[in-house]
Amino acid sequence: MTKTIVVIGAGISGLTTAYLLSKNGFDVRIIERKSEVGGSIESVNENGFLFDRGPNSALETTPLINQLVEELNLKDELLYANKEANKRYILRSNKLHALPMSPPAFIKTELFSAKAKLRLLAEPFIGRSNDGYYQSLAEFVKRRLGQEFLDYAINPFVAGVYAGRPEELSVKSAFPKLYALEEKYGGLIVGTVRSIRERKKRAEKSKQSAKMLSFKSGMIALPKAIAKFLGDKVILSAEVTSIDKTNEGYIVSYKHNGIDEAIACDAVLSTVPAYVALELFIKFNKNFKTHAEAIYYPPVLVYFLAYNKKDVKQPLDGFGFLIPEKEKKSFLGALWSSVIFPYRAKDDYATFTLFIGGSRNPEFVKEEREILLSRVRKEFEEIMQITGQPVYSSTRFWEKAIPQYNIGYIEHERFFDEFEKQNPGLFISGNFRGGISVGDCIKNADLVRDKINLQLRMNNL
Ligand SMILES: Cc1cc2nc3c(=O)[nH]c(=O)nc-3n(C[C@H](O)[C@H](O)[C@H](O)COP(=O)(O)OP(=O)(O)OC[C@H]3O[C@@H](n4cnc5c(N)ncnc54)[C@H](O)[C@@H]3O)c2cc1C
Repeated sequence: MTKTIVVIGAGISGLTTAYLLSKNGFDVRIIERKSEVGGSIESVNENGFLFDRGPNSALETTPLINQLVEELNLKDELLYANKEANKRYILRSNKLHALPMSPPAFIKTELFSAKAKLRLLAEPFIGRSNDGYYQSLAEFVKRRLGQEFLDYAINPFVAGVYAGRPEELSVKSAFPKLYALEEKYGGLIVGTVRSIRERKKRAEKSKQSAKMLSFKSGMIALPKAIAKFLGDKVILSAEVTSIDKTNEGYIVSYKHNGIDEAIACDAVLSTVPAYVALELFIKFNKNFKTHAEAIYYPPVLVYFLAYNKKDVKQPLDGFGFLIPEKEKKSFLGALWSSVIFPYRAKDDYATFTLFIGGSRNPEFVKEEREILLSRVRKEFEEIMQITGQPVYSSTRFWEKAIPQYNIGYIEHERFFDEFEKQNPGLFISGNFRGGISVGDCIKNADLVRDKINLQLRMNNL
């Protein structure tokens, strides 16, 4: 008999797993609290400007993304980033410095001092650390590459990826591949060379070399296409309120447009954030609360600005810029959205996406919004040498934006592994397990599909 699986949450994790499971012949239902699919993926078109309010792009780190694009007939919609987007800037002493992408550029750059450049040469001679599992990214990078590289490369980089801080993030959980380079090969430089060879064999791409993609209508095109494929299997405006075990499997109860409804199923896959999952799963194991509650999701304010191109004196030839914490600015960085992908603005305009807050500066929420935005705008316009007023602006506030894989995260990872073992038929996924990027969520969906497939077919649940 066909097994029924209820997937909670129609973000990219839930949708992709549901898609793969339904292709494997399972009867899948997705229950989503909001009235639209996508979760953190939101694309809006206003006044002729297209903005992504969550992820602006994904990296093609797995062949599965291309497979989805092909199978969902999204080829005509697919966009790869313009070649200008390869150039990334970092702010130092109020000046934008291109991140060096080749050894000669590295030697020439003023982003790092001569001392910092020489310090990098020592990297292959530095041994492994003993307490890797509980090491922060900052400790790891400082030990291997030196303080300045931490301050002017890694600090802004993690602000751009996690809206996080290297002092708090666990190197093992937040950057497992970086950690593995030391663990497996003894160093980053040696490890990078060897792992490139190994990845080639697996047809996978590293985040550094993977192509950056989006869609003509923004990132939302992918969730929408999956939802279209799944049709009435996606139930919107439906908030899951409880999960109960029965002799046959589970009952998932939800409020659908204010009305109580329920589905009986063989297995449940949760892809909701950890702080929502804790309410649903605490009855199965009281320790769920301790682990889920400890996962920090800092607030992020996304600020969209559009200007007349002629008013922007900074050459628009890059992906955008990131700001090291040491530079003491009121925002984390800015994407030059209309430079990265076409179809974001008409020719005469340039659009930008700025990020404010994160775990570097979560207190911004206490500040009056207008005062904060005007300060951010002033700083941004100075950096970009902008002479005119914006022609459009808007914001999107994410109260709990991105889960931080902080020091000690390994304990949570082990707990969720154990929880699944003790509760056959319950599966916990979403961006707080297996990586936060869209690419990681898609890769992880494939692993979760395999796990569910195996358990349901082998154990005949
Ligand atoms: C501002 C921002 C910028 C980002 N930028 C990038 C980027 O450029 N590139 C990149 O790769 N990644 C980026 N990310 C990260 C990435 O977008 C997310 O990690 C990923 O989209 C998460 O997908 P998910 O499906 O795991 O979770 P979510 O998208 O959070 O989906 C969970 C879903 O569960 C639903 N839900 C919650 N409670 C219930 C309930 N009780 N019942 C039913 N449904 C429920 C929610 O409404 C939501 O739709 C960004 C994230 C943010 C917030």
